[in-house]
Amino acid sequence: MTAPKPLIAGNWKMNGLRASLAEARAIAEGARTAKGRVAICPPALLIPLMCEMLSGTNVLVGGQDAHWEAAGAFTGDVSAQMLKDAGAQLVILGHSERRAAYRETDAIVARKVQAALAAGLEPIVCVGETLDQRNAGDALAVVTEQVRASLPPELAGQAFSVAYEPVWAIGTGLTPTTAEIEQMHRQVRATLTTMFGAASETVPILYGGSVKPPNAAGILHAAEVGGALVGGASLKAEDFLGIVNAL
Ligand code: PEP
Repeated sequence: MTAPKPLIAGNWKMNGLRASLAEARAIAEGARTAKGRVAICPPALLIPLMCEMLSGTNVLVGGQDAHWEAAGAFTGDVSAQMLKDAGAQLVILGHSERRAAYRETDAIVARKVQAALAAGLEPIVCVGETLDQRNAGDALAVVTEQVRASLPPELAGQAFSVAYEPVWAIGTGLTPTTAEIEQMHRQVRATLTTMFGAASETVPILYGGSVKPPNAAGILHAAEVGGALVGGASLKAEDFLGIVNAL
């Protein structure tokens, strides 16, 4: 089976005004010779502008969340269909910040994944344990259950990726050891194979959590790591490109 192209996706979170589009332009310029796929997931309001600006480049644009319904009385929410209509190609779902701050359960994430697929978006589904869960020796079990319950059967044969993001590594400067990353990624791969069969060998398993230019090569070349989901270091073109170029 051909190895899938790795994906480096930047999650801008609630950061970025129109002036920040200059960073996206610089990322597209520097990513012209990227060895993998590159994506930026800006705040929803920037998506149409960014899609227009990046059209013709090899940088994809994604959303950071989407509602499970296509439309309706959900004040303040954005649907997958709306993201698609705005030009997005991917969408991050089940990020730990949404699981924690908005009480998103695996079941909710699974419904969002179904909505994303129905809208024609490629989901990046996030999973990851808290520090307490890791310290209790439960990390593998917790993440395995998140993968099982957050990924609906409709994903079979579809383009998607899973992002393993230990909650304690996000925005903290802490990262698991290479051995810990490889152990978890192998576990996620085994779970995907059980759920979706051998075809899921091409599903990229991204690592996320304090990926920066100095640690990127070590992480990206670890076994079963198919790319990275990058928060803080995706906001500046120089830092993000330092990670893209570590592929
Ligand atoms: C994230 O929020 O998905 C993330 C990985 O953040 P950071 O790179 O800042 O740790």
